[in-house]
Amino acid sequence: MDSPDDLGLDLPDLRPGWVWLTGAGPGDPALLTLQALHGLRQADVVVYDALVDRRVLALARPGAALEYAGKRGGRPSPKQPDISRRLVQLARDEQRVLRLKGGDPFVFGRGGEEALALVAAGVPFRIVPGISAGIGGLAYAGIPVTHRDGNSAVTFVTGHNTAGDVPDGLDWPAIARGSPVIVLYMALKHLDGIADRLLAGGRPAHEPVAVVASAATAGQRVLVTTLGACAMDATAQGIAPPAMVVIGDVVTLRGGLDWLGALAGRRLDPDPLRLRDRSEAG
Ligand code: SAH
Repeated sequence: MDSPDDLGLDLPDLRPGWVWLTGAGPGDPALLTLQALHGLRQADVVVYDALVDRRVLALARPGAALEYAGKRGGRPSPKQPDISRRLVQLARDEQRVLRLKGGDPFVFGRGGEEALALVAAGVPFRIVPGISAGIGGLAYAGIPVTHRDGNSAVTFVTGHNTAGDVPDGLDWPAIARGSPVIVLYMALKHLDGIADRLLAGGRPAHEPVAVVASAATAGQRVLVTTLGACAMDATAQGIAPPAMVVIGDVVTLRGGLDWLGALAGRRLDPDPLRLRDRSEAG
């Protein structure tokens, strides 16, 4: 199959002068949407971020220009207004522009800002959602973000603000009290400070935590630890970004749901929460 259009779905085409703000998913190219793949097969220019997997870029139409617009903490990188200006310029040059971002463009991806710059410039655009690391990436670690009877709410939080600090505009005590499952993006650097705030807000030190690095890539690493020990453990194990941190009892489900591990021979526990023991006991 050269293009998902061959499936007879009548997918919208990426037309000259248009920009598609597109999610590339967390890594595994199999997690691309058909619409994203269709855009990759049609784009003249793919403007991509640091977290976009190479295997995804390899799906671009042969001859498409690949432009790196990545931002990684600590390294010199294009400024956001420069990226937006570049997108506008390419569109005005009648290029078919695929703006490709890791995960979902509207989840901690500044997709809204770029889209508003296109609106201001009168450039037509489409949003192509992607699988966010905080949901699909954790699924690759066998961790569901909700589990019936366990949690009816989940909170997605960024671990650093635009200045690179722990976002203190957040009501951490309220998050600690109100959200049984907390999913943190960009949290590795400040994990100690964040864990301290949640502990101060009343979360127990023994609460399960998973750190999932390079989810859905060949280099995926999963560290299962506790709120009290997570920052130390992540450092000791040399866990490197990009990584998701998930806090809550759903982490325990990995014992039963680590389907990737099972492919490598891990035996899965059908009752990781020990519900059977509990019902027998009481
Ligand atoms: N728009 C993206 C998030 C961008 S913010 C999304 O929806 O997934 C960048 C942060 O995303 C990283 O610091 C990391 O916390 C997380 N992230 C992105 N890809 C990841 C991956 N493959 N594995 C683990 N974390 C990832």
